Amino acid sequence: MPINLTLGDIYRITSFLKTEFSKLFWNHITIFPFPNPEYPLLYDFELGLRLPCRFRKNQRCSIYKARPLNCRLFPYWLLSNPNKDGYKEYIGPIRKCIKDYKEDSINKKNYLEYKHKVGNIILQESSLTEHLFSKNNLKKSISLPGDLPFPPSIPKQKEIWKIMLCSKKINKVDYKELPHIIAHALKDNTFHTVEELEIIDQIIT
Ligand code: SF4
Repeated sequence: MPINLTLGDIYRITSFLKTEFSKLFWNHITIFPFPNPEYPLLYDFELGLRLPCRFRKNQRCSIYKARPLNCRLFPYWLLSNPNKDGYKEYIGPIRKCIKDYKEDSINKKNYLEYKHKVGNIILQESSLTEHLFSKNNLKKSISLPGDLPFPPSIPKQKEIWKIMLCSKKINKVDYKELPHIIAHALKDNTFHTVEELEIIDQIIT
């Protein structure tokens, strides 16, 4: 599943690793086509983790303290409301962390509170990223034609195939100024720190 990044995520990851965005761009953090929720053939190019995630080392997250907000939310957005459609598809032998989950009203209340708090930060920070992209004319979308042959018949594989097709259309030259633009934005704004997020994490620990 693609994982998008806010400017705050980039602030926390680069501070944690004591590095610059330009050193991570394309290798770890990339421009990724995200399916538009309203139009099935439209994909928006946004900042996201390169997949498979390059921060995963020795079967662990090497930036766990500074992991992106969307990584923090998993699996709590599901477990706070396990009866919603889609919950079951995430539970399989590889998802050991939620395989044995039994619904519990106290857990559910804490997960819901956590989801709201992290979700609100995502909304704040995403609007900042959105503004930065549109101000610098970086927001690009691509629309796939409706008459494309879609070889894979399984919906998940078809979606991956469509994302790969869109990825090929990303022109790195369009984003050559991005490291410079992000370096300025990181200086000009304040973001939640790793320590502040760790306090919020106490809700679920
Ligand atoms: S939790 Fe860490 S390793 Fe996993 S996808 Fe997020 S950043 Fe990558």
